[in-house]
Amino acid sequence: MRSIDDLNFEDKKALIRVDFNVPMNDKFQITDTTRIDASIPTIMKILGDGGSVILMSHLGRPKQGPEEKFSLKHLVNYLSEKLNTKVKFADDCIGESAINLSSSLNSGEVLLLENLRFYKEETKGDETFAKILASLGDVYVNDAFGTAHRAHASTAIIAKYFPGNKVAGYIMLNELSNIDAVLNETKRPFTAILGGAKVSGKVEVINSLLHKVDNLLIGGGMMFTFIKALGGNIGNSIVEDDLLELAKNTIEGAKIMDVNLYLPFDTIIADNFSNDAEMLTCNADDIPDEWMGLDIGEEACKKYIDVILKSKTILWNGPMGVFEMPKFETGTKLIGKAVGEATHNGSFSLIGGGDTVAAINKYNLSNDVSYVSTGGGAMLEYIEGKILPGVQALED
Ligand code: AMP
Repeated sequence: MRSIDDLNFEDKKALIRVDFNVPMNDKFQITDTTRIDASIPTIMKILGDGGSVILMSHLGRPKQGPEEKFSLKHLVNYLSEKLNTKVKFADDCIGESAINLSSSLNSGEVLLLENLRFYKEETKGDETFAKILASLGDVYVNDAFGTAHRAHASTAIIAKYFPGNKVAGYIMLNELSNIDAVLNETKRPFTAILGGAKVSGKVEVINSLLHKVDNLLIGGGMMFTFIKALGGNIGNSIVEDDLLELAKNTIEGAKIMDVNLYLPFDTIIADNFSNDAEMLTCNADDIPDEWMGLDIGEEACKKYIDVILKSKTILWNGPMGVFEMPKFETGTKLIGKAVGEATHNGSFSLIGGGDTVAAINKYNLSNDVSYVSTGGGAMLEYIEGKILPGVQALED
């Protein structure tokens, strides 16, 4: 796979697939700019070479055609400020405006295209759509690691129209090398911390991690599927009953593979799913009916922190509790701090997944960990050992 550093972009129009899928409030203000900020070095390299830049991205999940709340025009001001240049905007990613504005683009200029997913052809991987997009630029740069696990028109199909002229941007290169470092140059003990609401979507990665890690710490809503599988009472906690058998097999698999699989001893329970709820601590396998576990408890935190501080490689995906509510954020916060402390003591830590990254930012820990991945699903699939279509397309 060629790197952006292998090309000189002088007088070239670089068509960059970025991941500008950023959260916005109802006033269309960007509430977390991490993904845009991360793309700046790639854009600056091209402008610095004397090239011009055409940015394309998706935003949200529009159902049928254009929707105001998913328009990328809301990003233009922030991007212009960040790049210190007036960013142009094409209100249709393949329409007349995109074609005219890109053909008249001069060196040093930046054009942002409207949301790719306003066309269903994008997610369908439509050839014609990809070909029209491809006609806008001279070189294709893929810097959208977060969507590299999708064979969409702009992430994979388009690459074939740029033989010899397709490269990976800095985000893509950094993501791959940091995950490779965790998987291939692992310093032991290697600990994976998994949380979040559900086991589904993480089943494959859990099974693949059993072959790699020394410790697996489980928290978040997903812990209750494991605890119920072992016969515990989980009250009203979130659970996936269709995955109980699988959870049991994972616990058995961990034993066979000599992996220490930890489940929280205690949990913070609530009488309803809200920050105003009554809260108590109880054993995680003895939750009264009508109550639900919304965070890991103090004993669990102590144990997990102890394991984390003894680890040399740490991978973290998924919050330990409903950290969005202050009453149930302690587990996630303390685990985040412990990962930061382990990193300061020389461990390598990789954090991924939208909610985990949000948690890391909420507690100002992003500079205390080794690497924050911009891709949740893509990171998990890469760890599973799957070939990512977006990466493959740059290699063919
Ligand atoms: P995921 O997308 O599967 O990583 O899930 C992230 C979400 O899991 C976050 O929004 C958390 O609020 C939620 N979560 C974490 N712990 C729990 C829990 N014990 N019960 C319900 N939701 C949870």
